[in-house]
Amino acid sequence: MVRPNDHTADAGHAPAPAGPLVVAVPDGAPDDLGAADRDGRPTTLELAATPALDDLVASGRPRRVTTIPEGLPAGTEVGLAGLLGLTVDEPAARGRLEAAACGEPLEAGEAAWRLDLDPPEAPPADAVAAIGRALAARGARVRALGGHRLLLVGPAAWGDGPPGPHQTGEPLENLVGGPLAEAAEAAACALRRSGVDARVWPWGRVGGAHGSAPAVLGREVDVVAGSPAAAGLAALAGASVHQVPTAALDTGEIAALVREAPSDAMLLVHDGRPDEAAHAGEPPAKVAAVETFDATIVAPVAAALRERGAGSLLVCADHGCDPATRSHTRAPVPAVTWHPAARTSREGEAAPRATERAVAALPAEPVAELVAALAGGSLRTRGALAGATGPRGGGVVAS
Ligand SMILES: [Zn+2]
Repeated sequence: MVRPNDHTADAGHAPAPAGPLVVAVPDGAPDDLGAADRDGRPTTLELAATPALDDLVASGRPRRVTTIPEGLPAGTEVGLAGLLGLTVDEPAARGRLEAAACGEPLEAGEAAWRLDLDPPEAPPADAVAAIGRALAARGARVRALGGHRLLLVGPAAWGDGPPGPHQTGEPLENLVGGPLAEAAEAAACALRRSGVDARVWPWGRVGGAHGSAPAVLGREVDVVAGSPAAAGLAALAGASVHQVPTAALDTGEIAALVREAPSDAMLLVHDGRPDEAAHAGEPPAKVAAVETFDATIVAPVAAALRERGAGSLLVCADHGCDPATRSHTRAPVPAVTWHPAARTSREGEAAPRATERAVAALPAEPVAELVAALAGGSLRTRGALAGATGPRGGGVVAS
């Protein structure tokens, strides 16, 4: 479950806190507060009933956290890296994350891209095999990732692909040419011969050096990942990864992970459901997803930490995603830090909530530094994760 540490303890760092650090991540949970105000609507976090989270805020500390550094795109590739304590110079390449998530090795000189079928339908196995034969002649290979998603591995010299089909309204022909476009066309031809009529969209930057050693975090890090991007990022960061479909996050298993985590470990639980509902443009579904996150992740994690009487908890989204625009947001996100002995006196104050509006006046804290401080200054990275470099370990945030 938790893989053995392969680093030596850094002398001179502050002693680790007495229990595990748990980070619970509702992907994309905050809305765009400015857009909500213009439309005169409450945000998802304001609408959702989140008794477990409210309880943490009452005795813990609400915060406002910058998860997307200036100049970087808002997304899990950037925001979740920060929640793993990594500082990010550029987002990890999407195809590389997908390859890491499914354990597909990349050789020197190779890169990975996503290939998405449009309209989104899952190709039958014989069609995937036909694509594989067509692309083998070009020195590339494919692998089914589930649903309409395929992984393409080929020469890194093919270069960057365009953004994902959901991120642009442009026709593919305007965005990519050369061998990557030709490979996508060959894949579409192979599909047609197998009776599947779909366009094939290759996407994702190449980015970063390949084949480098994974980064090593200063704590043993266990990640429950609710999406391939989260799983790939955690794998590249050197964490041990449990990838589970977001609908199947098991409350009992999560509580057991918290109960059994070594006291110097970090456990990150990522829930992709709020982001999925926001991309689908379904506000009620997003409210339901946030309520599910509260009931099935925050509540059991807090209960398990109370039972241990030790450890600490950070609840923080990786970025926002507004259900009206269906797009990611880069504003600082509301968050809360809490530990089982936390007692904040709020006499005469209304109970605060961790919503966009409620934390709007707080100073924004950079996420990697906050995580490093919560980890007792021991969180650090070594080696090279493309697009994410450290260490920020030892960086202490005034609390
Ligand atoms: Zn998203």
